[in-house]
Amino acid sequence: MKYWEIYKQHVLTQCIEPGIEETNLFYWRNSLFAMTVQYLLPLSVIAFVPGVYMAVVTDMTLLLITDLLAALTMIAIAFLPGLSLQFRKILLTFSLYMVSVVLLYELGMYGPGLLYLLVITIFAALIFEYRYALATVVGNLLICVAFGGLIYLDWGSSQVVVQYNMDSWIAVSSNLLFLCTVSLLLIPQLFDGLQRAFDRRKAVEEELKENQQALKISLEQLEEKNEELEKFAYIASHDLKEPLRMVQNFMYLLQKKYSEHLDKKANKYIHFAVDGAKRMTRLINDLLEYSRVGRVHTEKTEVDLNEVVDAIRRDFFEEGDESSDVIHANDLPVIEAVEVSAKMLFQNLVSNGIKYRDESRPPKIFISYEDLQTHWKFSVKDNGIGIHPEYSDRIFDIFKRLHAESDYSGTGIGLAICKKIVEQHDGEIWVESEPGAGSTFYFTMKKEWS
Ligand code: ADP
Repeated sequence: MKYWEIYKQHVLTQCIEPGIEETNLFYWRNSLFAMTVQYLLPLSVIAFVPGVYMAVVTDMTLLLITDLLAALTMIAIAFLPGLSLQFRKILLTFSLYMVSVVLLYELGMYGPGLLYLLVITIFAALIFEYRYALATVVGNLLICVAFGGLIYLDWGSSQVVVQYNMDSWIAVSSNLLFLCTVSLLLIPQLFDGLQRAFDRRKAVEEELKENQQALKISLEQLEEKNEELEKFAYIASHDLKEPLRMVQNFMYLLQKKYSEHLDKKANKYIHFAVDGAKRMTRLINDLLEYSRVGRVHTEKTEVDLNEVVDAIRRDFFEEGDESSDVIHANDLPVIEAVEVSAKMLFQNLVSNGIKYRDESRPPKIFISYEDLQTHWKFSVKDNGIGIHPEYSDRIFDIFKRLHAESDYSGTGIGLAICKKIVEQHDGEIWVESEPGAGSTFYFTMKKEWS
């Protein structure tokens, strides 16, 4: 088996032209030739044994020499270095001609000589360009005419002369030429069709490649723009913090020192201004947090989600607090994630579940997960007011809120942060909800992400 593989590889290197693409028909023509040589060589050596036996028994020395020459030619085609591929192909065709003429001469209608001539044309149409196949038809015609001449002159001891008369030879040889011509016409048709299909495929592939390239460039530009935008958001919100702190401080001083001297209305205005400044601080902090996801918080670690949920419980409720029976979680896995981000993700979803609770019942949050082999799938389910399906996509957009500040305070950034974190972990986030019954937020996170 090992030697057979070595032999096959050797023939392939001799009989295949490197650098031709699979979409070029000559790749397949050459492969066919190489495979023919691969199998024909051992077969011709095997055929040599009965050939020798036959030749010795029937005293046909010419056949014996031809068999020997054909086997040697095959060896040369397969192993002789330095020959061009075209020359190897021509050598094989000549060797076939030699065998077929001798078979015709020695065996006449009892040998496969005529069949060989047909095979030569078919083979030439498969491995050469069109004009070579045409040349074999002309060659076959000349051979038929030559044997016809021998029959006509009744010259020599050939079996063709012995077995055929002129009429039967014309009938047999014209049939052969007819079949050769049909092969010559049909096989190139097939190849032309194949070449057209290959060309079309190549054109489509090239177009696809160009589109992919354009898409890649657009994506890179988009990423660059996103990065710029995030940096801008970071710098803008960072720089806004200081003047805002000043406004807050002076408002506080104004309230403290002058509230007694001001009337009720003025005090109310100060209260609004302080409230507004507080909201703006929250907004800036959330914006800063949003811009940090995937930019500042990037370090991957093993995160035990049970610890994350415990920490969230501690953040929300005092120990021993009765209302601490709000967050329920299965035994959660340890995942590979950015710890700060994972915590923020669960915290935002849990706090929303509590914030948007239905006042008619105590809030309950259930956290569970599924192992999806390549991903983790988590769900955070609440029994709150629910979300109308119409908004189930838009709530993940930044600043998108469904309630007035007076009903539920917030900045509309929490879920946008969640989405960004999930995408950072190569996952997706979505919500399923029934207004009045509660919402379940699902998200996936890839186990191995980059
Ligand atoms: P915020 O809570 O600060 O308004 P979010 O981005 O966290 O911002 O949420 C966006 C909107 O989605 C909220 O204004 C709210 O209307 C809706 N929402 C989010 N979570 C829930 C929930 N668990 N139940 C009902 N509505 C929710």
